[in-house]
Amino acid sequence: MAHTLIDKRPERRPLDLSGAAASPGILVDSFQRRVSYLRLSITDRCDLRCTYCMPERMTFLPRKDVLSFEELDALVSQFAAFGVDKLRITGGEPMVRKDFIELMARFARHLGHGLRELTLTTNGTLLRKYAGDLSAIGVRRINISLDTLKPDVFEQLSRRDMLPVVLDGIDAALEAGLKVKLNTVALKGVNEAEIPDLIRYAHERGADITLIETMPMGEAETDRVEDYLSLKDVRASLQREWTLTDLAETTGGPARYVRVEETGGRLGFITPLSHNFCESCNRVRVTCTGRLYTCLGREDGADLREALRTDPSGKALQGAILGAIAAKPQGHDFDAARLASPASPRTMSHTGG
Ligand code: SAM
Ligand code: SF4
Repeated sequence: MAHTLIDKRPERRPLDLSGAAASPGILVDSFQRRVSYLRLSITDRCDLRCTYCMPERMTFLPRKDVLSFEELDALVSQFAAFGVDKLRITGGEPMVRKDFIELMARFARHLGHGLRELTLTTNGTLLRKYAGDLSAIGVRRINISLDTLKPDVFEQLSRRDMLPVVLDGIDAALEAGLKVKLNTVALKGVNEAEIPDLIRYAHERGADITLIETMPMGEAETDRVEDYLSLKDVRASLQREWTLTDLAETTGGPARYVRVEETGGRLGFITPLSHNFCESCNRVRVTCTGRLYTCLGREDGADLREALRTDPSGKALQGAILGAIAAKPQGHDFDAARLASPASPRTMSHTGG
């Protein structure tokens, strides 16, 4: 539970930006965690309306509030200079952003020069159009969200009749040689019974799949207490059919992996509400408006857009990033008992998943 964090709290070092500023090649917070992973949302817009993510009549941000092409480029360059070596692009739906592939190509120029990996999370609807280009600019792996294989359930969940388009997008990604991981939000009574089929679907295609518990983010129109499905229960039920072997690897995030011996594929469990993954947290998020969040469930961070727009020298941006990293909270604030009232007013489409 999140609250046990407070009891185990190691002593935070006093905030001292001078040391961090003197060695700009690395971002280390006051709990000695190295921040090496940035998730960047490039738009809040989307061509689906997943019920757990946003309302049907979503009010999108005015364009002037969203970081421009140049601002996003400057931001990524600064994080790469600070030693961030993994960049995940998300949204909203990142592929609906105007000039999406040109923007990705800009980010890709840091590959091999600071960045080790450039990847993205997508709903898959535009992959037939972009998978080949992504592979050509150096993207090797992508996450595709897929909650169901049933067209009617897909339409009920995303409010759009687009399952065939998404499945075709997954095929396009595989054909382009991209390594695919599917992300599935586990929803009680909605896709619960389909989870073994989704795992088989992924593993038959050589893809990994990760199950995600619903998170208390934003003002979606669904009842999260009713939707909430504990992955502990899912795992127990899968173990009646399959042998799951724990794998040691972690990504520094909330995912824990097993191998399904019968299919030979990897299965991840993301349980932000029931597990404590914060000690190894290596990541930060930036919204499409340039708000840096240093912890998914909390408000701590900095306004990087203000820094970008007021100081072309880049000094204010550096200072804002360093200050926020130094104050990165030790752990998140989610609590299953508070699912009904969001821990964070941000929607996932602003911060990216
Ligand atoms: N549009 C892209 C997509 O759907 O993959 C990228 C952005 S989306 C916000 C990123 C991930 O967050 C998706 O896998 C989505 O299922 C997940 N997500 C959205 N709202 C969520 C919530 N309330 N709880 C858990 N996961 C959520
Ligand atoms: Fe769009 Fe992704 Fe949110 Fe679904 S989860 S509405 S695809 S941003």
